[in-house]
Amino acid sequence: MPGKNNRNRWVAVYLIVIILWSVVFAYLIPSFRNQQSQEVDYSAFVQMIEDDKIEEVEFLPDRILFEEKGEEDVEYRTGRVYDEELVPLLKEKNIKFNQEIPKETSPIVSFFVQFILPILVIFGLMSLLMRSAANRMGGNTLNFGKADAKIYDRSKEDAKSFKDVAGQDEAKESLREVVDFLHDPKKYQKIGAILPKGVLLVGPPGTGKTLLAQAVAGEADVPFFSISGSEFVEMFVGLGASKVRDLFKQALEKAPCIVFIDEIDAIGKRRDTSGMGGGNDEREQTLNQLLNEMDGFSGKEEVVILAATNRPEILDPALTRPGRFDRQIPVELPDVRGREEILKVHARKVIVDDKIDYHHVALMTAGTSGAQLANIVNEAALRAVRQGRDLVLEEDLIESVEVVIAGMKKKGMVISEEERELIAYHEVGHALVAAMQTHSAPVTKITIIPRTSGALGYTMQVDEEEKYLMSKEDIFNKITTLAGGRAAEEVIFNTKTTGASNDIEKMTEMAKALVTKYGMTDEFGMVNLGGQQARYLQSELSVN
Ligand code: ADP
Ligand code: MG
Ligand code: ZN
Repeated sequence: MPGKNNRNRWVAVYLIVIILWSVVFAYLIPSFRNQQSQEVDYSAFVQMIEDDKIEEVEFLPDRILFEEKGEEDVEYRTGRVYDEELVPLLKEKNIKFNQEIPKETSPIVSFFVQFILPILVIFGLMSLLMRSAANRMGGNTLNFGKADAKIYDRSKEDAKSFKDVAGQDEAKESLREVVDFLHDPKKYQKIGAILPKGVLLVGPPGTGKTLLAQAVAGEADVPFFSISGSEFVEMFVGLGASKVRDLFKQALEKAPCIVFIDEIDAIGKRRDTSGMGGGNDEREQTLNQLLNEMDGFSGKEEVVILAATNRPEILDPALTRPGRFDRQIPVELPDVRGREEILKVHARKVIVDDKIDYHHVALMTAGTSGAQLANIVNEAALRAVRQGRDLVLEEDLIESVEVVIAGMKKKGMVISEEERELIAYHEVGHALVAAMQTHSAPVTKITIIPRTSGALGYTMQVDEEEKYLMSKEDIFNKITTLAGGRAAEEVIFNTKTTGASNDIEKMTEMAKALVTKYGMTDEFGMVNLGGQQARYLQSELSVN
């Protein structure tokens, strides 16, 4: 809440200015006055009286001030000496004299100056110091227990809309309904429909969950609070629950509105039921508070909680039961059409050749996420600049697909003639086996240029169309193709090298899945032999 912070800050600034002002008055002004007067010896003063050089004398508690006749702009001072003869002398010389009555300071004022003022000064300085320290840490100490939810600013230039999200049509459809409800709740209430309180976006990393939420913020004509799950448990311990409370308080004041909690798994993790390992009290309290708050308001309040996670399997079941996050929107990895659209959306931001076949690039990028595709377009633009062009060509895109899959080319790496030959045979082994198969995608590229990922070469296969299912034959074909590299080493050089380790890893994984997950063997039949696995593992393109 920037408004409140600013006000606090100004109060502190005023306080300090006033305090400094008082200090200046109390100590500096008198000494300032001192500097204007000239100090003389007491004996010289008496001499001047006797010489009739003085007209008027003023006694202060600790000094005597006087002026020389005819030279009124210079004031002299001298210390007060115990001298019984001074007054008679002044009277004799007919000099006006006066003792200033000391100003009576009220006990309250002196108490204030002596006790309260120093405390205020110290307090003011401390709070200034803490404030600047907290600011450096990205928070604010006076904001203890306040949710730092950001209110989304729709007028900003980079405000997102549904147009910026390619593909994900079902997710957009579902979210449009939520936005529509907030704009026109009567339409839904008339028929008795209650809006879902919570909408959970679920999908692998980089598929555009955060982007979708930003698009909702841009499209909805209502306030949009955005906060990340980790922000609840950040910085100071023990404040998560009160932050949740504050967030919901703010939201209810602003209703109708949308609250977006990104990466909700940071607080929504399944509570520890085993009682072992202690669990995380702080997080549990935060989660309990969140559950409480969500129960606290009915569907009538016109507050929609939007949340995103890429680890739905670790969420506490209490969070996903109906009445809380009762609508789950899957945001899956894009299919070939989705990838083509995402590439096009991002290609709009750079200058591209209009002959680019996006469909071809989309086919090459099976298994990539929207974030990776955005990265591919950007890498292509960087490559075009490196090559001194002002236009992104299809070859830039293809090269950057390889960069994203296998890393940059390692130009400086020197590989001996002998090893290069072996790598070449290894890769051709993969390619040949692939070409001989009936269920294998066509080979589009074989290379033995080493990459930063550690690959010394690879064979790329691109399917002509996207497949959603894999048959037992497909898996067998893949395993056989992976084995082709080592087979070539053995046939041509009668040896085995470490170059096949990555192939072996993948083959093993596939074979294991075939038995334990897909139930494709007669011996075990249709049984799941593996444990529960994360639903969304970071996807990887197949390179072998
Ligand atoms: P998530 O939150 O699901 O991990 P993000 O929303 O942060 O993923 O996506 C990261 C970036 O990837 C976005 O900023 C955007 O540039 C790109 N992106 C992801 N999905 C899409 C999509 N469907 N359309 C366009 N761009 C996308
Ligand atoms: Mg995200
Ligand atoms: Zn290989």
